Amino acid sequence: MAVTANGRRTGSTRARKRYFLNMAELSDEDISFINAHGVPLSRVFDAESLPTKFWKSLMSERRLWLAYGVTPCEAAGHQLRTRKGHCVRCNPAALAFLKRHDLEGEVYIAYSKKLRLVKVGSTEFYLDREASLNADGYAGAADWEIRHWARSNRAGRTEYLVQAELRQHHIPTQYFRESTGSFVWANEVFRCSLELAKATLEKISRCK
Ligand SMILES: [Zn+2]
Repeated sequence: MAVTANGRRTGSTRARKRYFLNMAELSDEDISFINAHGVPLSRVFDAESLPTKFWKSLMSERRLWLAYGVTPCEAAGHQLRTRKGHCVRCNPAALAFLKRHDLEGEVYIAYSKKLRLVKVGSTEFYLDREASLNADGYAGAADWEIRHWARSNRAGRTEYLVQAELRQHHIPTQYFRESTGSFVWANEVFRCSLELAKATLEKISRCK
C-alpha cells in the first residue's frame, strides 16, 4: 500500500498546532506524568482503535511501556495503561517495574528530508528500525534515515534525557501508521537541526 499518510505537517502554524493538540489522545496530565517519570517517548504507544489483545501483544513484542487511546480506567477515567493493561496513573509502581527492565540498546537520531524533522528514539538494532520507520510511513514520511546513533546500557533513559533537552522543539504529528492501519500520533519528532540533536545525544552519552 502506498504511504498516503496525511503527510501534512501538523503544527506548521500556530493555529493548526492548537487544533491538533486539542485532538491529542495524550492529555496534558498524561504528558506531565510521562515527563515526571522519565518515560522515553518511543515506549509510549498510540493504541487508538486497536483491539485490546492486539495492542497488548504488539506492545510486549516491541517492548513498549505505555499505551494511550485505550479504554479509560474505571476508578478515574485515566487513559494511560501499561502493556499488561493496568492504569499507570492509579498504579505508578507498574512503571517502576518497566523502568528496571530498561535494557541496553541504541539511541538514534533519524532525519526526514521531506518533513525536515528529527526523530529521537531507541531500539535494539538501529538498522532494523530505519526500515520499520519507512515501512510505517512514520510521521507521514518514508524517507527516514538514521544519521547518528550511540550505544547505551540504559537506552530508554538516554533517549528520555535527549528528548527532555529538546522539549522546546517537540512537535507531535498525526499520520497513518501502515503496520496497524490506524491514524495515530508520532510523538518522537522535533523541529530542530540535525546538528543540535546529534550534539545533544553526544553530550548526554558523555555524561554517563
Ligand atoms: Zn486510573
